[in-house]
Amino acid sequence: MRLTAPLYPKEVCCMPNEYAIVIHGGAGAMSKGKLTPAQESEIKSVLKSIVEEGLAALKAEADALDVVQKAVNRLEDSIWFNAGKGAVFNHQGNHELDASIMCGKNLEAGAVSGIRFSPNPIDVAREVMMNSPHVYLGGEGAEQFARVQGLPQVENDYFSTDLRYQQLQSAIKAQAVILEPTDHDYKYGTVGAVAFDKHGNLAAATSTGGITNKQYGRIGDSPVIGAGTYANNQTCAVSATGHGEHFLRHVVAHNISSRMMLANESLEQATHHVVFKDLPSTGGSGGVIAVDHKGNISLPFNTEGMYRGWGGSNQPAQSKIYE
Ligand code: ASP
Repeated sequence: MRLTAPLYPKEVCCMPNEYAIVIHGGAGAMSKGKLTPAQESEIKSVLKSIVEEGLAALKAEADALDVVQKAVNRLEDSIWFNAGKGAVFNHQGNHELDASIMCGKNLEAGAVSGIRFSPNPIDVAREVMMNSPHVYLGGEGAEQFARVQGLPQVENDYFSTDLRYQQLQSAIKAQAVILEPTDHDYKYGTVGAVAFDKHGNLAAATSTGGITNKQYGRIGDSPVIGAGTYANNQTCAVSATGHGEHFLRHVVAHNISSRMMLANESLEQATHHVVFKDLPSTGGSGGVIAVDHKGNISLPFNTEGMYRGWGGSNQPAQSKIYE
Protein backbone atom coordinates (compact mmCIF):
# COMPACT_ATOMS: atom_id res chain seq x y z
CA MET A 1 0.00 0.00 0.00
CA ARG A 2 1.28 3.45 -0.87
CA LEU A 3 0.90 5.84 2.06
CA THR A 4 1.86 9.09 0.41
CA ALA A 5 -0.28 11.33 -1.73
CA PRO A 6 0.51 11.53 -5.45
CA LEU A 7 1.78 15.01 -6.17
CA TYR A 8 -0.88 16.65 -8.26
CA PRO A 9 -0.10 20.08 -9.62
CA LYS A 10 -2.21 22.72 -7.91
CA GLU A 11 -4.29 23.20 -11.05
CA VAL A 12 -5.70 19.67 -10.71
CA CYS A 13 -6.91 19.80 -7.11
CA CYS A 14 -7.34 23.41 -6.19
CA MET A 15 -9.01 25.02 -9.14
CA PRO A 16 -12.68 25.93 -8.85
CA ASN A 17 -14.73 25.09 -11.95
CA GLU A 18 -18.13 26.27 -13.11
CA TYR A 19 -18.79 22.60 -13.87
CA ALA A 20 -16.65 19.47 -13.49
CA ILE A 21 -16.67 15.68 -13.78
CA VAL A 22 -14.38 13.02 -12.32
CA ILE A 23 -14.64 9.28 -13.08
CA HIS A 24 -12.87 6.14 -11.90
CA GLY A 25 -12.58 2.58 -13.15
CA GLY A 26 -11.21 1.17 -9.92
CA ALA A 27 -8.14 1.41 -7.70
CA GLY A 28 -5.54 -1.33 -7.37
CA ALA A 29 -5.08 -1.22 -11.14
CA MET A 30 -3.14 -3.92 -12.96
CA SER A 31 0.53 -3.68 -11.93
CA LYS A 32 2.63 -1.52 -14.19
CA GLY A 33 3.96 -3.61 -17.05
CA LYS A 34 1.10 -6.15 -16.98
CA LEU A 35 -1.00 -4.08 -19.35
CA THR A 36 0.44 -3.85 -22.85
CA PRO A 37 1.03 -0.29 -24.11
CA ALA A 38 -1.91 -0.81 -26.51
CA GLN A 39 -4.24 -1.88 -23.67
CA GLU A 40 -3.08 1.01 -21.50
CA SER A 41 -3.75 3.52 -24.23
CA GLU A 42 -7.15 1.99 -25.04
CA ILE A 43 -8.25 2.19 -21.39
CA LYS A 44 -7.03 5.78 -21.12
CA SER A 45 -8.83 6.75 -24.29
CA VAL A 46 -12.11 5.19 -23.07
CA LEU A 47 -11.79 7.13 -19.80
CA LYS A 48 -10.95 10.37 -21.58
CA SER A 49 -13.81 10.08 -24.04
CA ILE A 50 -16.28 9.55 -21.18
CA VAL A 51 -14.96 12.69 -19.47
CA GLU A 52 -15.21 14.62 -22.74
CA GLU A 53 -18.80 13.51 -23.22
CA GLY A 54 -19.63 14.50 -19.63
CA LEU A 55 -17.99 17.90 -20.04
CA ALA A 56 -19.93 18.61 -23.24
CA ALA A 57 -23.20 17.72 -21.49
CA LEU A 58 -22.37 19.83 -18.43
CA LYS A 59 -21.40 22.76 -20.64
CA ALA A 60 -24.84 22.44 -22.26
CA GLU A 61 -26.40 22.69 -18.78
CA ALA A 62 -27.16 18.99 -18.24
CA ASP A 63 -27.95 17.92 -14.67
CA ALA A 64 -25.11 16.37 -12.68
CA LEU A 65 -27.33 13.39 -11.86
CA ASP A 66 -27.92 12.53 -15.53
CA VAL A 67 -24.25 13.04 -16.31
CA VAL A 68 -22.97 10.65 -13.62
CA GLN A 69 -25.53 8.01 -14.62
CA LYS A 70 -24.50 8.23 -18.28
CA ALA A 71 -20.79 8.10 -17.42
CA VAL A 72 -21.32 5.00 -15.26
CA ASN A 73 -23.43 3.40 -18.03
CA ARG A 74 -20.51 3.72 -20.41
CA LEU A 75 -18.08 2.30 -17.85
CA GLU A 76 -20.49 -0.59 -17.14
CA ASP A 77 -20.69 -1.34 -20.87
CA SER A 78 -16.91 -1.49 -21.25
CA ILE A 79 -15.29 -4.89 -20.64
CA TRP A 80 -12.26 -3.20 -19.09
CA PHE A 81 -13.92 -2.48 -15.78
CA ASN A 82 -15.44 -4.56 -12.98
CA ALA A 83 -19.03 -3.36 -13.39
CA GLY A 84 -21.75 -4.37 -15.82
CA LYS A 85 -20.16 -6.37 -18.67
CA GLY A 86 -16.75 -7.53 -17.43
CA ALA A 87 -17.81 -7.85 -13.78
CA VAL A 88 -15.89 -10.29 -11.58
CA PHE A 89 -17.14 -13.77 -10.64
CA ASN A 90 -18.16 -14.76 -7.12
CA HIS A 91 -17.00 -18.05 -5.60
CA GLN A 92 -19.95 -19.92 -7.17
CA GLY A 93 -18.97 -18.74 -10.64
CA ASN A 94 -21.82 -16.22 -10.96
CA HIS A 95 -22.04 -12.46 -11.05
CA GLU A 96 -23.80 -10.37 -8.38
CA LEU A 97 -23.67 -6.64 -8.99
CA ASP A 98 -24.18 -3.63 -6.73
CA ALA A 99 -24.77 0.06 -7.51
CA SER A 100 -25.88 3.34 -5.97
CA ILE A 101 -26.59 6.92 -7.02
CA MET A 102 -27.20 10.10 -5.03
CA CYS A 103 -28.38 13.63 -5.75
CA GLY A 104 -26.69 16.36 -3.70
CA LYS A 105 -29.54 18.83 -4.17
CA ASN A 106 -32.21 16.96 -2.18
CA LEU A 107 -30.26 14.00 -0.75
CA GLU A 108 -32.42 11.59 -2.73
CA ALA A 109 -30.67 8.29 -3.34
CA GLY A 110 -31.16 4.85 -4.88
CA ALA A 111 -29.21 1.64 -4.34
CA VAL A 112 -29.34 -2.02 -5.35
CA SER A 113 -27.32 -5.12 -4.51
CA GLY A 114 -27.17 -8.73 -5.70
CA ILE A 115 -28.24 -7.80 -9.24
CA ARG A 116 -27.89 -10.77 -11.63
CA PHE A 117 -30.00 -9.98 -14.69
CA SER A 118 -29.93 -6.21 -15.28
CA PRO A 119 -27.11 -5.17 -17.64
CA ASN A 120 -26.82 -1.69 -16.10
CA PRO A 121 -27.31 -1.84 -12.32
CA ILE A 122 -26.91 1.94 -12.03
CA ASP A 123 -30.13 2.32 -14.04
CA VAL A 124 -31.94 0.11 -11.53
CA ALA A 125 -30.55 2.22 -8.67
CA ARG A 126 -31.76 5.41 -10.38
CA GLU A 127 -35.16 3.82 -10.92
CA VAL A 128 -35.37 2.92 -7.21
CA MET A 129 -34.58 6.55 -6.41
CA MET A 130 -37.11 8.02 -8.84
CA ASN A 131 -39.96 5.53 -8.86
CA SER A 132 -40.10 3.75 -5.51
CA PRO A 133 -40.68 4.94 -1.97
CA HIS A 134 -37.40 3.25 -0.95
CA VAL A 135 -33.68 3.93 -1.10
CA TYR A 136 -32.23 0.42 -1.21
CA LEU A 137 -33.52 -2.81 -2.79
CA GLY A 138 -31.64 -6.11 -2.71
CA GLY A 139 -31.60 -9.44 -4.55
CA GLU A 140 -34.77 -10.86 -6.09
CA GLY A 141 -36.85 -7.88 -4.97
CA ALA A 142 -34.56 -5.51 -6.86
CA GLU A 143 -34.68 -7.73 -9.96
CA GLN A 144 -38.46 -7.92 -9.82
CA PHE A 145 -38.68 -4.15 -9.48
CA ALA A 146 -36.39 -3.70 -12.51
CA ARG A 147 -38.57 -6.04 -14.58
CA VAL A 148 -41.78 -4.26 -13.58
CA GLN A 149 -40.20 -0.93 -14.47
CA GLY A 150 -39.47 -2.34 -17.93
CA LEU A 151 -35.68 -2.24 -17.66
CA PRO A 152 -33.78 -4.62 -19.97
CA GLN A 153 -32.88 -8.12 -18.74
CA VAL A 154 -29.98 -10.38 -19.73
CA GLU A 155 -28.73 -13.86 -18.84
CA ASN A 156 -26.17 -13.85 -16.03
CA ASP A 157 -23.38 -14.93 -18.41
CA TYR A 158 -23.82 -11.63 -20.28
CA PHE A 159 -21.37 -10.23 -17.69
CA SER A 160 -18.74 -12.98 -18.18
CA THR A 161 -15.38 -12.43 -19.86
CA ASP A 162 -12.38 -14.76 -20.21
CA LEU A 163 -10.13 -12.43 -18.23
CA ARG A 164 -12.46 -12.44 -15.20
CA TYR A 165 -12.84 -16.23 -15.44
CA GLN A 166 -9.07 -16.68 -15.36
CA GLN A 167 -8.92 -14.34 -12.36
CA LEU A 168 -11.49 -16.48 -10.53
CA GLN A 169 -9.54 -19.65 -11.31
CA SER A 170 -6.29 -18.19 -10.00
CA ALA A 171 -8.05 -16.80 -6.91
CA ILE A 172 -9.55 -20.24 -6.18
CA LYS A 173 -6.19 -21.91 -6.77
CA ALA A 174 -4.45 -19.47 -4.44
CA GLN A 175 -7.33 -19.92 -1.97
CA ALA A 176 -7.56 -16.15 -2.00
CA VAL A 177 -10.51 -15.39 0.18
CA ILE A 178 -11.96 -11.97 -0.14
CA LEU A 179 -10.36 -10.50 2.96
CA GLU A 180 -6.87 -11.65 2.01
CA PRO A 181 -6.51 -11.29 -1.74
CA THR A 182 -3.04 -12.50 -2.65
CA ASP A 183 -2.80 -10.95 -6.08
CA HIS A 184 -3.36 -7.25 -6.31
CA ASP A 185 -4.00 -7.59 -10.02
CA TYR A 186 -7.47 -8.97 -9.52
CA LYS A 187 -8.48 -6.97 -6.53
CA TYR A 188 -10.64 -4.03 -7.52
CA GLY A 189 -12.11 -2.35 -10.59
CA THR A 190 -15.39 -0.78 -9.55
CA VAL A 191 -16.54 2.24 -11.55
CA GLY A 192 -17.85 5.60 -10.42
CA ALA A 193 -18.53 9.19 -11.39
CA VAL A 194 -19.04 12.49 -9.58
CA ALA A 195 -20.13 15.77 -11.17
CA PHE A 196 -20.82 19.41 -10.40
CA ASP A 197 -23.20 21.17 -12.80
CA LYS A 198 -23.89 24.77 -13.86
CA HIS A 199 -26.98 24.84 -11.61
CA GLY A 200 -24.75 24.31 -8.55
CA ASN A 201 -25.78 20.68 -8.06
CA LEU A 202 -23.57 17.75 -7.12
CA ALA A 203 -24.18 14.05 -7.83
CA ALA A 204 -22.34 10.75 -7.33
CA ALA A 205 -22.76 7.22 -8.72
CA THR A 206 -20.91 3.93 -8.19
CA SER A 207 -21.34 0.47 -9.78
CA THR A 208 -19.44 -2.78 -9.18
CA GLY A 209 -19.20 -6.53 -9.53
CA GLY A 210 -17.60 -6.58 -6.06
CA ILE A 211 -14.46 -8.61 -5.43
CA THR A 212 -13.30 -11.76 -7.28
CA ASN A 213 -14.13 -15.01 -5.48
CA LYS A 214 -16.40 -13.21 -2.99
CA GLN A 215 -18.79 -15.26 -0.94
CA TYR A 216 -22.35 -15.59 -2.32
CA GLY A 217 -24.42 -12.74 -0.87
CA ARG A 218 -21.45 -10.54 0.04
CA ILE A 219 -22.16 -6.80 -0.26
CA GLY A 220 -19.37 -4.22 -0.20
CA ASP A 221 -19.37 -0.45 0.19
CA SER A 222 -20.36 0.50 -3.37
CA PRO A 223 -24.16 0.33 -2.95
CA VAL A 224 -24.09 1.70 0.59
CA ILE A 225 -25.00 5.39 0.71
CA GLY A 226 -22.41 7.12 2.88
CA ALA A 227 -19.75 4.42 2.42
CA GLY A 228 -19.14 4.04 -1.33
CA THR A 229 -21.29 6.92 -2.58
CA TYR A 230 -22.41 10.26 -1.17
CA ALA A 231 -23.47 13.69 -2.48
CA ASN A 232 -24.55 16.81 -0.65
CA ASN A 233 -24.68 20.26 -2.27
CA GLN A 234 -23.39 21.80 0.96
CA THR A 235 -20.11 19.89 0.75
CA CYS A 236 -19.12 17.44 -1.98
CA ALA A 237 -19.88 14.37 -4.09
CA VAL A 238 -17.77 11.23 -3.56
CA SER A 239 -17.45 7.79 -5.21
CA ALA A 240 -15.08 5.23 -3.67
CA THR A 241 -13.18 2.18 -4.87
CA GLY A 242 -11.13 -0.30 -2.90
CA HIS A 243 -11.43 -3.01 -0.28
CA GLY A 244 -15.11 -2.53 0.56
CA GLU A 245 -15.02 -3.99 4.06
CA HIS A 246 -12.72 -1.14 5.15
CA PHE A 247 -14.69 1.51 3.27
CA LEU A 248 -17.80 0.35 5.10
CA ARG A 249 -16.13 0.54 8.51
CA HIS A 250 -14.79 4.03 7.88
CA VAL A 251 -18.04 5.20 6.25
CA VAL A 252 -15.67 6.80 3.78
CA ALA A 253 -17.84 8.99 1.54
CA HIS A 254 -19.92 10.52 4.33
CA ASN A 255 -16.83 10.87 6.51
CA ILE A 256 -15.29 13.13 3.84
CA SER A 257 -18.43 15.25 3.67
CA SER A 258 -18.58 15.51 7.48
CA ARG A 259 -14.96 16.61 7.77
CA MET A 260 -15.77 19.45 5.37
CA MET A 261 -19.02 20.39 7.10
CA LEU A 262 -17.98 20.06 10.74
CA ALA A 263 -14.21 20.56 10.73
CA ASN A 264 -14.21 23.08 7.91
CA GLU A 265 -11.62 21.09 5.97
CA SER A 266 -11.07 21.62 2.25
CA LEU A 267 -12.00 18.82 -0.16
CA GLU A 268 -8.34 17.97 -0.53
CA GLN A 269 -7.69 17.85 3.23
CA ALA A 270 -10.77 15.73 3.90
CA THR A 271 -10.15 13.19 1.11
CA HIS A 272 -6.46 12.88 1.94
CA HIS A 273 -7.15 12.34 5.63
CA VAL A 274 -9.53 9.48 4.90
CA VAL A 275 -7.43 7.85 2.16
CA PHE A 276 -3.98 8.22 3.74
CA LYS A 277 -4.79 8.07 7.48
CA ASP A 278 -8.16 6.48 8.27
CA LEU A 279 -8.15 3.65 5.70
CA PRO A 280 -4.53 2.55 6.27
CA SER A 281 -5.13 2.50 10.04
CA THR A 282 -7.11 -0.74 9.51
CA GLY A 283 -5.21 -1.94 6.42
CA GLY A 284 -7.71 -0.56 3.89
CA SER A 285 -6.48 0.13 0.36
CA GLY A 286 -8.15 2.02 -2.46
CA GLY A 287 -9.07 5.55 -3.42
CA VAL A 288 -11.85 8.07 -3.95
CA ILE A 289 -12.90 10.60 -6.56
CA ALA A 290 -14.56 13.78 -5.30
CA VAL A 291 -15.77 17.20 -6.41
CA ASP A 292 -16.93 19.97 -4.11
CA HIS A 293 -19.61 22.67 -4.32
CA LYS A 294 -17.12 25.06 -5.94
CA GLY A 295 -16.00 22.61 -8.61
CA ASN A 296 -12.66 21.73 -6.97
CA ILE A 297 -11.73 18.12 -7.60
CA SER A 298 -9.66 15.56 -5.69
CA LEU A 299 -8.75 11.98 -6.57
CA PRO A 300 -6.35 10.44 -4.04
CA PHE A 301 -5.56 6.71 -3.87
CA ASN A 302 -3.18 4.65 -1.74
CA THR A 303 -2.72 1.83 -4.29
CA GLU A 304 -0.24 1.60 -7.16
CA GLY A 305 -2.78 2.97 -9.57
CA MET A 306 -6.37 4.04 -10.05
CA TYR A 307 -8.06 4.16 -13.44
CA ARG A 308 -9.30 7.74 -13.54
CA GLY A 309 -10.28 10.70 -15.67
CA TRP A 310 -11.26 14.28 -14.90
CA GLY A 311 -12.04 17.65 -16.40
CA GLY A 312 -13.84 20.91 -15.72
CA SER A 313 -14.75 24.27 -17.21
CA ASN A 314 -11.15 25.33 -16.50
CA GLN A 315 -9.46 21.96 -17.01
CA PRO A 316 -9.28 19.93 -20.23
CA ALA A 317 -10.27 16.23 -20.11
CA GLN A 318 -7.44 14.01 -18.89
CA SER A 319 -7.05 10.36 -17.93
CA LYS A 320 -4.42 8.39 -16.03
CA ILE A 321 -3.82 4.93 -14.59
CA TYR A 322 -0.69 5.23 -12.47
CA GLU A 323 0.73 8.32 -10.74
N1 ASP B 1 -15.33 -1.42 -3.29
C1 ASP B 1 -15.72 -2.56 -4.10
C2 ASP B 1 -16.23 -3.65 -3.19
O1 ASP B 1 -15.67 -3.86 -2.15
C3 ASP B 1 -14.62 -3.12 -4.91
C4 ASP B 1 -13.91 -2.13 -5.79
O2 ASP B 1 -13.84 -0.95 -5.49
O3 ASP B 1 -13.41 -2.53 -6.84
O4 ASP B 1 -17.15 -4.32 -3.58
